[in-house]
Amino acid sequence: MPLVVQKYGGTSLGNAERLQNVAHIIANTVKQHKVIVVVSAMSSYTKAEGTTSRLLEAGNLAINGGPFFRVLDLVEQSHFKALEEAISDTVIMEEVKEYIHEELRSLKAFLEAIHVIHEISPRSQDLIIGTGERLSARLLSGVLKSYGIDSTYTDLSQCVEENLSPNNGEFYSLCQQAFRKKLPENQNDVPVMTGFFGFVSGGIINRIGRGYSDLTAALIAAEMQAEELQVWKEVDGIFSADPRKVPTASVLDAISPSEAAELTYFGSEVLHPFTMERAIQSKVQIRIKNTFAPEKPGTLILPEGLDEESQSKRIQLKRTAIAVTTKNNIQTLNINSNRMLHSSGFIAKVFDAFRHHGVVIDLISTSEVNISCTVNDPDELDDLTRDLEELGTVTVLGERAILSLVGEGMRTTPGTAGKMFSALAEEGINIEMITQGASEINISCVILQSQTSEALKAIHRAFLENQ
Ligand code: ASP
Ligand code: MG
Repeated sequence: MPLVVQKYGGTSLGNAERLQNVAHIIANTVKQHKVIVVVSAMSSYTKAEGTTSRLLEAGNLAINGGPFFRVLDLVEQSHFKALEEAISDTVIMEEVKEYIHEELRSLKAFLEAIHVIHEISPRSQDLIIGTGERLSARLLSGVLKSYGIDSTYTDLSQCVEENLSPNNGEFYSLCQQAFRKKLPENQNDVPVMTGFFGFVSGGIINRIGRGYSDLTAALIAAEMQAEELQVWKEVDGIFSADPRKVPTASVLDAISPSEAAELTYFGSEVLHPFTMERAIQSKVQIRIKNTFAPEKPGTLILPEGLDEESQSKRIQLKRTAIAVTTKNNIQTLNINSNRMLHSSGFIAKVFDAFRHHGVVIDLISTSEVNISCTVNDPDELDDLTRDLEELGTVTVLGERAILSLVGEGMRTTPGTAGKMFSALAEEGINIEMITQGASEINISCVILQSQTSEALKAIHRAFLENQ
């Protein structure tokens, strides 16, 4: 049977009803596929109240002498409530409960120690947040068993060789091999894997970032050459624009991996960016699905070079543009200096200052005497500006947004930029900076944040409606 890897987001597992719903989806899938499940930590309401956020908060409280145990009690309560309601078999229920209680008890002891030494290393932080996925994976595995689906809880917490760095060129393949070794011996079991894996040198949050479970799922799908990676979320798929801001936005049937990658970098939180990188390399087909509306087709991210049927689906990818997004809370930094003329080391010095302060740049545009960069509200903005002032005159413009139009079809359609800028001009929206990479799959410009709503609607009307 062909293999499908299913990744479930924390909100899709947020309470008993949702866990049961996920168990139904898995039960339907196993009829025709082998399934490997990867889970994120449970999130009852919003991400901020999710288990991972609570665990990070507990860690901070432990360092500062705050009542971290109360936060852990909340985590225990939400898991207990969910499992008591979702698992009817009392033996399984007690086993899962015991596991969760034990995990949180040892985490409490660990945080007591952190409290005494007033310090959390990246590795300690990994130990703390990894608890989130251990609890949700154990819990979902229990729910599946109580539904009669043979399932094995699979903990990836310590499966990677110590201090493996994401900078290592073989990072992905080494992780993949480590994950494969953890697969249950009984091939008929549905493994429920923790999206958390460790230990990553420098810590998973610092080096990979929130949302790492998507990457775990992509790696396992690549390693096992799955027919499809399904990312189950709480939305119908990838939209042509944020539907909360553009009511006429529609779900995209199929997009290319490069388009999906652009969208994840520029404001739409669809998938963890590294996920796309691995999916592109290994030609994994990804489908975004909605756990609350599993009958809907979702959005397919189709790699190139698949069979003919898949290629025909790509025909619809030939649209000029597929989506428009915005990223808010942007500042533009302009560095102006005559010293830049005929000077080879100038740009290196500017970027060195950014590196020194750990500030990430989104867009860059340069002229003979000016460099403009956008940054996303960094902590060290003032210090960075002070250093840059030694190189030239610096101006910082805040309350800006990046507007990006994305689509592979733009490469072959002359006049796209002209049409985009006219659509904005007609709404009286001023463009302060423009960039387009050589790949011509994304045209981005900087506008006033206060004008993002009109800008999104205008661009959506011009490119993405009635095509
Ligand atoms: N639970 C983790 C987070 O919230 C990982 C994930 O969701 O993928 O970042
Ligand atoms: Mg996520």
